[in-house]
Amino acid sequence: MKTTLHLLYGGKSAEHKVSLQTALAVTKALNKDKFNVFPLFITEEGQWVRGKQLTGEVESVAQLQLTDKGTSIAPLALTEVNEQTDDKPVIFPLLHGPNGEDGTVQGMLELLNLPYVGNGVLASSAGMDKVIMKQLFAQAGLPQVGYVHFLRSEWEKNDELAYKKVEEELGYPVFVKPANLGSSVGINKAKNREELASAFKEAFDFDRKIIVEQGLENAREIEIGVLGNDEPQCSVLGEIVPKKEFYDYKAKYEDGNTAMIIPAEVDEQTYESVKEMAIKAFKAIDASGLVRADFFLTRDGELYINEVNTMPGFTPYSMFPLLWQHTGVAYPELIERLVQLAKDRHDEKQ
Ligand code: ADP
Ligand code: MG
Ligand code: MG
Repeated sequence: MKTTLHLLYGGKSAEHKVSLQTALAVTKALNKDKFNVFPLFITEEGQWVRGKQLTGEVESVAQLQLTDKGTSIAPLALTEVNEQTDDKPVIFPLLHGPNGEDGTVQGMLELLNLPYVGNGVLASSAGMDKVIMKQLFAQAGLPQVGYVHFLRSEWEKNDELAYKKVEEELGYPVFVKPANLGSSVGINKAKNREELASAFKEAFDFDRKIIVEQGLENAREIEIGVLGNDEPQCSVLGEIVPKKEFYDYKAKYEDGNTAMIIPAEVDEQTYESVKEMAIKAFKAIDASGLVRADFFLTRDGELYINEVNTMPGFTPYSMFPLLWQHTGVAYPELIERLVQLAKDRHDEKQ
């Protein structure tokens, strides 16, 4: 029997365009003998539209659209989507950032009792909040850079106190980040008080909570893919070489000139440590399906976990699919595995 797969993409986040690109790539990669694929598009205004097909070129996001106008639906009407087969449809949320990768959509899918690809509610929300994620990692004994966090209300009450705390506990340079975001949106490096103040201001434009981290200079950025449910497997390692001061939004999605090196050149012991730490991190947030775990490797050989991404970039040119391709799992097979993992998790709950 064919599997009905609904690709949930678009959305209100800063990663809207990336999501469109991913949806099209996944549509093209899927074997039409095995899958009936339907697009479920979320507009930038948050409206849900059910369409028949996706067209356009993966490379040109601007042209991407539904062939038909689509029918507006209420998110909770999702269960009515699949009248045509007996098989339970699987939902593949190709959404990044808040309202997609953070457990909200996952919670809705739980209520609807539908199998869905990727992480569940808890892992998604824990992975989206950089402060909670770091607290769980600390509990698991994973090495991380020093950090402090602030609420907007604290900062508004006494910003001087906040800056002093950063200077005393961390020292410059630091990275200032909104707690709940991805794709480097709202992140800035600060080397002095003036930059710190403007970095706080920008980060608080995106979130009511921010994290400030000790900034590593010249560290290598190493990433690994983890795939599975209760017995997750690791991919080979990849390295990101940003041509700018850091891997910001533009470097990620617009310039296209950030080098990706796969497999990353590291010694055997480092590879083993990264794998071990990635699995620990996966378990620390109770992940399922997939995560991409990101690390810093200093020039002295010290390894720190930076974050896990519960819905990593998933175009065929993104790190996670490329890591698996180099590990022997090509893009179409990777998607099939994820769908199977979604079904397995769903069956296990019943
Ligand atoms: P996002 O979830 O948006 O990807 P990250 O925490 O990965 O946010 O930060 C984005 C980028 O900023 C990283 O890939 C890295 O280039 C740089 N960066 C972040 N934190 C640090 C840090 N503590 N030290 C050095 N560079 C950092
Ligand atoms: Mg992230
Ligand atoms: Mg990152």
